[in-house]
Amino acid sequence: MKWYSKNVLLLNADYSPISVISWKNALRLILKDKVEIIEYFDDSISHGKAFQAPSIVVLRNYVARLHRIRIGITRKNVAIRDNYTCAYCNRRLGRHSTTIDHIVPKCKGGIHDWKNVITSCKKCNTCKSDKELGDVMEVSDGKGGKRRKQIKLLYAPTFPDIHDILYANILKKPEYANWRQFFGKT
Ligand SMILES: [Zn+2]
Repeated sequence: MKWYSKNVLLLNADYSPISVISWKNALRLILKDKVEIIEYFDDSISHGKAFQAPSIVVLRNYVARLHRIRIGITRKNVAIRDNYTCAYCNRRLGRHSTTIDHIVPKCKGGIHDWKNVITSCKKCNTCKSDKELGDVMEVSDGKGGKRRKQIKLLYAPTFPDIHDILYANILKKPEYANWRQFFGKT
């Protein structure tokens, strides 16, 4: 089996999105007859025998949703949520120059949660180190010296918009265009 990485959209019986799953997990649901395939990719994959790769599957029975779609708290996803802007100096950052800062540092009991992570440039992250909001950090004054500045957030951390994250990661790719109709925005 050659490596195949396209994702499969899992819809509830009412066609609301539940999750984004791997083709292997989709195959398990298909073999157990838990889902119906409503869209395929053009690719064919083989798993014992060759079959056309599923793109969207729908549960045959409605499940009450206990959780919303889980979004991984990754550096990229936090940066997408925060519009690639450092929360401490407001600089717009390149795709590869963001870092995740824990607002309440982990060493002081801060947890890895959407409300405790924020995008920071590398400089601010280093200056902030294990300090907390309201503490004072030393930053460059731009003239080779240092100045002291109170640590505060220029915007608040929020729970991310699932559509924004999925769009940046998946939905904007042409092969997933037919997924867009199942999300609020297009
Ligand atoms: Zn910064």
